[in-house]
Amino acid sequence: MKITSVEPFVIHVPLRVPINDSSSHVSHWGVPGVILRTDDGLFGTGYTGTHAVGDELIVGAIRDHYGPRLIGKDPFNVRQIWQDLHLEPLHWIGRTGITTMAHAAIDIALWDLMAKASERPLWQLLGGHKPERIVTYNTDGGWLNWTQDQLVEDCQRIVERGWRGVKIKLGKPDPAEDLRRIAAVRRAIGDEIMLMVDVNQKWDLHTARTWGRRLADYNVYWLEEPIHPDDVEGHALLARELATPIATGEHIYNTFGFRDLIARQAIAFVQVDVTRVAGITETLTITNLAAAYNLPVVPHISDMMQVHQHIVAAFPNAPMLEYIPWLLDLFEEPVRVVDGAIVPPTTPGASTTMRADSVARWRVA
Ligand code: MG
Repeated sequence: MKITSVEPFVIHVPLRVPINDSSSHVSHWGVPGVILRTDDGLFGTGYTGTHAVGDELIVGAIRDHYGPRLIGKDPFNVRQIWQDLHLEPLHWIGRTGITTMAHAAIDIALWDLMAKASERPLWQLLGGHKPERIVTYNTDGGWLNWTQDQLVEDCQRIVERGWRGVKIKLGKPDPAEDLRRIAAVRRAIGDEIMLMVDVNQKWDLHTARTWGRRLADYNVYWLEEPIHPDDVEGHALLARELATPIATGEHIYNTFGFRDLIARQAIAFVQVDVTRVAGITETLTITNLAAAYNLPVVPHISDMMQVHQHIVAAFPNAPMLEYIPWLLDLFEEPVRVVDGAIVPPTTPGASTTMRADSVARWRVA
């Protein structure tokens, strides 16, 4: 099997209601990606996820720099291809962000092709661990632009629909308001539901130390992105001082970034994102690294679960996945969730094939 064409695309899917966290306003989910076609008629689809800003930079890297190197390559040489794209041609100008996200889209397309050619869903190609169900926790209700009443109602609704875990956003100008919101949600959902909180890097270290201590009163399951993701020492300090476990990863772009956080015992939950590190190939390395430190991997989901369901289904140290349903109408086989748990797909591939009508509707380039 040889790759014969590389077709980049950009899709912007509107959200039902625009949302805020402490660092971003999001009205559309950006899906820059690529279709790789082969001489035996199969095609693979890969993509990354954005706030619908900067997508032209990501597909430009694919079209002009990574893509031409793929022609004539066998997708089953995925690690060789990964190494080639990693070291050349853009390493000199960017080792994180735009370049790894472009690389991720290609790597996901390659694994989609391998799984299709193997006539197996990706999770089975990866060694399949939990074929029955994949537990999710729900992020799609805790937004920062919700009033406290809306927030509480959303979290109650999520629990009534079967989820055993909800995440809410923090980072109000006054952290005391964050605490009031946490208290109200905890009162409403009871003490048995997992409650995660996510600062999206809004706090400095002093704020995180001061207000992070008070989370212990509310049985918070983890504190996510309390401070800048590159501050390994700050995370290590918080991990030592706070009773609440620390989670981060959605802005960590490579294996070494995760290694440093893990080796310093700075995080308790590893939130690698397959669309932000350089694809499935690098996610496998990071998930195995976490296993060597006996740490759980609970991925961040810029792919909106389609690819990550396969990763979590394949790894014993991946107990749970995030749930955000923003791209369900984009895919031929959208992730299937029953009572808060994903039923792993049985169709060959990585569940990345998109519906032609949805692509026609939302494609911008
Ligand atoms: Mg987050």
